[in-house]
Amino acid sequence: MIDRRNAVYCALLLALTALADEEDYSMARAAMVDEVKFYAALARDSGEEALNDDVMQSLGTVERHNFVASDQRRFAYENRPIPIGHGQTISQPYIVALMTDLIEPERDFVVLEIGTGSGYQAAILANLVTHVFSIEIIEALADEAKTRLARLGYDNVTTKLGDGYYGWEKHAPFDAIIVSAAASHVPPPLIRQLKPGGRMIIPVGGRFMTQQLLLLEKTDDGEVITRQIAAVRFVPLTRGR
Ligand code: SAH
Repeated sequence: MIDRRNAVYCALLLALTALADEEDYSMARAAMVDEVKFYAALARDSGEEALNDDVMQSLGTVERHNFVASDQRRFAYENRPIPIGHGQTISQPYIVALMTDLIEPERDFVVLEIGTGSGYQAAILANLVTHVFSIEIIEALADEAKTRLARLGYDNVTTKLGDGYYGWEKHAPFDAIIVSAAASHVPPPLIRQLKPGGRMIIPVGGRFMTQQLLLLEKTDDGEVITRQIAAVRFVPLTRGR
């Protein structure tokens, strides 16, 4: 009897602790959203006064603590990159928000992401568009992200293991493309797989140096207009699969 009662107490305590954690996380997440808004107003990298409300709402919804390892959870809502293993990082929330804002997501969009990593950027997009296709080159990360996104209910994200340099021909053309790793140049296959009128955001520059975040717009007649947005630091786009 005592054992049973103890078990009930333990279960109750665990449930309460989990609830308290969720509450702490939601407060931390709201504070992160405020920080990103503040940062965006200061930086105005996008040339706009503020980031799109829907983008900010998605940032306020996605549980970033579920995209990092348990020993990194307490840092989950800090406005900085977080290691996700295999020498990779989940991007700074401000940069995720900025990149998402710059593709001007619309409900009916089909978006390609290169560099699934933890799946966080894909989840932010999934709340805003019809479908997200995302490619990751490191097998362990690709597997983890696939399982994580399914577990968290993001059923409009399709992931695959592969070299994102070549895009995903089968599902092209895309309304927008987000590249989450720094390339030495804009991969021509990605330009080809962008719809006329579509936008691509990609960090370009050498390894271990500051890169430029570029916004490419493909006009209706296929011309590409490129704009430099901000100096950034991303892990390199690797090749070879
Ligand atoms: N968007 C991710 C962060 C990604 S970090 C998130 O929200 O967590 C960049 C990711 O790009 C890494 O996971 C890295 O393994 C991956 N990557 C690097 N080169 C790649 C390539 N050629 N194709 C696909 N993914 C690549």
